[in-house]
Amino acid sequence: MCEQKQTVKSRFAPSPTGFMHIGNLRTALYSWLLAKSLGGDFILRIEDTDQERLVEGAVDVIIDTLKMTGLNYDEGPGVGGEAGPYVQSERKEIYRKYADQLVAQGDAYYCFCSAERLQQLHDENGLGGYDRHCRDLSADEVAERLARGESYVIRQRIPLEGVTKYYDEVFGEIEMENKEMQDQVLLKADGFPTYNFAHVVDDHLMGVTHVVRGSEYLTSTPKYALLYDAFGWQRPHYVHLPLLMGRGEDGKVSKLSKRHGAVSFQELVKNGYLPQAILNYIALLGWCPKGNNQEIFTLEELQQSFSIDAISKSPSIFDYDKLNWFNSEYIKAMSAEDFAAVALPVINETCPSYINAAKLAELLHSRVTTLAEIAAQVDFIAGRLPMEGDLYTNKKNKTTPKLCAQILADIKPVLAETPAWDNDSLFALLKDFAAETGVKSGAVMWAVRVAVARKAVTPGGATELLEVLGRDEALARIEQAIAELNA
Ligand code: GLU
Repeated sequence: MCEQKQTVKSRFAPSPTGFMHIGNLRTALYSWLLAKSLGGDFILRIEDTDQERLVEGAVDVIIDTLKMTGLNYDEGPGVGGEAGPYVQSERKEIYRKYADQLVAQGDAYYCFCSAERLQQLHDENGLGGYDRHCRDLSADEVAERLARGESYVIRQRIPLEGVTKYYDEVFGEIEMENKEMQDQVLLKADGFPTYNFAHVVDDHLMGVTHVVRGSEYLTSTPKYALLYDAFGWQRPHYVHLPLLMGRGEDGKVSKLSKRHGAVSFQELVKNGYLPQAILNYIALLGWCPKGNNQEIFTLEELQQSFSIDAISKSPSIFDYDKLNWFNSEYIKAMSAEDFAAVALPVINETCPSYINAAKLAELLHSRVTTLAEIAAQVDFIAGRLPMEGDLYTNKKNKTTPKLCAQILADIKPVLAETPAWDNDSLFALLKDFAAETGVKSGAVMWAVRVAVARKAVTPGGATELLEVLGRDEALARIEQAIAELNA
């Protein structure tokens, strides 16, 4: 008989903080890629046992992010699965049973130390180290104090001698002297487990084979490994990911945080970045495809190329310029319809309803790096800008305010009468007008563009802007320009 191979299962286990830090999203992505590249399952588990830090709506933020990025989960809140519930606060009773088992085995113990006592310890040694004060209370004393209803926590009894080792798939063999480890709290006074305990129990019960998470957990993992051993459970594969760093204005590199810029997925989306561009970029922050320099990857392509051994252990720096590059590549690669679908809501929100929004979206497609730039690019369409400086004087096109006034006065009746109001027809019209009047066509285009835009740089030329603004508004702006030039 052949041995049955265990299905690969990885999980993403965020604490609901109200936003999705980009480092957490990378963890979710790598965990998802690991499972999917090995034909396995991906679990979402909400780690909300810290009842003091609950944030309303925070679980939705997590679920929405995974939806928007296509990181579908096979088991989790809203999806179900055999090992549910997948929200830790709904599993309180489960942990108690396992904590009791450890106490019965002698691998954990009751601790009755008051918060004041612990605080004092903290002040004395400056490290907050627990002095194992309750580690050797007699069974009778424990029973008596429990009967009295004293408040307690349950702590892990870490061996005082020896070394605990584990193998990390990215960082290699990690070892820690047992005496360096604290008798950490497993079950808190409110009956809720700590992260340290809950995640071990859950990873086991949920059949997680690969624990993928940030390298901040690298040094606490020996304690978790000891818990697996105490229960006689098989340890999972550990895959700790390299740190994500940011570069400050002074050039110094430190852990990626708000001071470096937007660091949550929600903020980046709000700032006009596309979910797929963000995902593509962060995929490369700590993982490098083998054998080629490909940078643009669909999620499917990432899944095909991904492997654990190509994860790097050196920290990666989140580079906002590089993200801009990815985003503009993704925008350029969008179909006209897809771009219109994301650009039109922004256009419609900022611009009056009479403009030709579809045409404007078409003009913007090749001209923006992020969707957030749209508002600034269309400010002159949203409303009439004040004239700043003398834009009518232009060397290259040899225009002066006087010449522009003349051109505008002559072209206005022609524009008022022309039957077609699309770019091609208007372009031909202005060309013909230039030929007939003997004015350079560049000068005609310049005068018209400045009159309707009052801006030197616009998304599109004179006749494209005329088409976007529509005849009535364009003529009104030209009339206003003539009046101002003659004043
Ligand atoms: N809830 C932990 C966090 O958000 C998860 C760590 C882990 O994946 O084990 O950091």
